[in-house]
Amino acid sequence: MTLDIEGLAHHYGRERALDDVSFSVDDGELVALLGPSGCGKTTIVQAIAGHITPTAGTVSLRGERVTDQPPEARGVGVVFQEPTLYPHLTVAENVAYGLKARGMPADERQRRVDAYLSLVDLPEAHGSMPAQLSGGQRRRVELARALAPEPDILLLDEPLSALDATLRRRLQDEISRIQAETGVTTLFVTHDQQEAMSLADRLVVIHEGAVAAVGEPRSLYQSPPNRFVGSFLGRSNTLAASVDGDASVLTVDGTRIECAEPLTSTEPVVHFRPEAVTVGSTGEITLSGTVRSVSDRGSHYDIEVELSTGERLVGTCQRAPPAVDEQVSVGLRRRDLVVFDE
Ligand code: ATP
Repeated sequence: MTLDIEGLAHHYGRERALDDVSFSVDDGELVALLGPSGCGKTTIVQAIAGHITPTAGTVSLRGERVTDQPPEARGVGVVFQEPTLYPHLTVAENVAYGLKARGMPADERQRRVDAYLSLVDLPEAHGSMPAQLSGGQRRRVELARALAPEPDILLLDEPLSALDATLRRRLQDEISRIQAETGVTTLFVTHDQQEAMSLADRLVVIHEGAVAAVGEPRSLYQSPPNRFVGSFLGRSNTLAASVDGDASVLTVDGTRIECAEPLTSTEPVVHFRPEAVTVGSTGEITLSGTVRSVSDRGSHYDIEVELSTGERLVGTCQRAPPAVDEQVSVGLRRRDLVVFDE
């Protein structure tokens, strides 16, 4: 295991930023630390990098506790959200900076600078000044600088959030390629669910300073363990259900749905994705309602349907959408439903 975080807590004065955060990152994995703004992601990165001492808990790198070690004693490379290149140093000097501080001989420094500038596809940029580079090129140099010391773990703290959408996608692909080529263990911090899902082997989802879920992107998307994860990872329909008598059967809008396990709550919530709903046809479970809006999304239509309970759900349809105010049936498969027994 490259990184192990156990029971991490942190307070800024009286404000609690993290509470009992535990997760680990395996050798060679790319894990995304995902959560909304202010949930504590940067605080976790700072505790791993050694820029803060957590109020409680431990950080271990390759089995060794480093919680109280200074940043330079840890094998951690970091790329921050804000640009951090030294403007008065050339690209090569920027990349070599940390290597020199580590006492690396000049010929090895030269070899690393050449290798890592080639890796980030800037083999000719040695003598350029940071101001002569584009925003995307500067990010690549920062990536080369973080990788050149060959750290145990690479921490990328929202490195793409200041870039426009096209450049962002291109650099996502680059990070993916570089991570695959070097095999460097990587923790990628983002608040962007699509970015996290497209890049990561696993997600650690953070909500209000605590871990809300850990798992593979697709399985968390398809079977979220709680309502927060369900709504944060993509568009989510939730409908109130009731349980009367038989605890293994719930009712949604008058329709009975069998559950594998008896439910403990009398008012569970049923969750499903819009793409799991077929509007205008029946399914294993069939609801019915009135079309309230139709939006053309290019590849499909989003149809908003109001049920007799007054609740609304969004489904999709590929062609010939129904009209607003039309009565429609809504088909669902049992396996696409997730029941939150909260
Ligand atoms: P963002 O995505 O916006 O960067 P984040 O998920 O990285 O947010 P953190 O920056 O770790 O979140 O902040 C977690 C909480 O701690 C927030 O409520 C924030 O206001 C608070 N916080 C962060 N740094 C400090 C600080 N230096 N002093 C006081 N409070 C802080």
